[in-house]
Amino acid sequence: MTDHAHPAHDPHCIFCKITAGQIPSNKVYEDEELFAFHDIRPAAPVHFLIVPKKHIVSLAHACPDDEALLGKIMVLAPRLALEQGCNPYPEGGFRTVVNTGAEGGQEVHHLHVHVMGGPRPWKHG
Ligand code: ADP
Repeated sequence: MTDHAHPAHDPHCIFCKITAGQIPSNKVYEDEELFAFHDIRPAAPVHFLIVPKKHIVSLAHACPDDEALLGKIMVLAPRLALEQGCNPYPEGGFRTVVNTGAEGGQEVHHLHVHVMGGPRPWKHG
């Protein structure tokens, strides 16, 4: 998982600590490359985050080597959304959000995809 572009693990990163099991989380999914867990401050009835285990700082830091990993996240999102209680497309569905940088609203600097769904209204919907 280590490559030249990204260190595998940042010991100061809260999401690296979560994927390593050093900080507890409400886990939704895990494989060798990805980890998903419920957001601690949910903005919708279903709100979880999918993160690569590899410490990619933001979408602005993703490189061509990460294409398959990012594609894997996007293909996993609908499956986990249904498993977590989102209603099926098209009446149901879900929102995917990736905040990038300060002006993009990113607060945790480890790439993560928000997946939000469930009956409206939502807090920030
Ligand atoms: P924003 O807070 O604007 O959504 P981000 O896109 O960086 O910024 O999202 C970080 C998300 O991580 C937030 O939704 C926050 O609630 C969530 N979060 C922070 N710490 C934890 C944690 N320990 N466990 C689960 N979710 C967390």
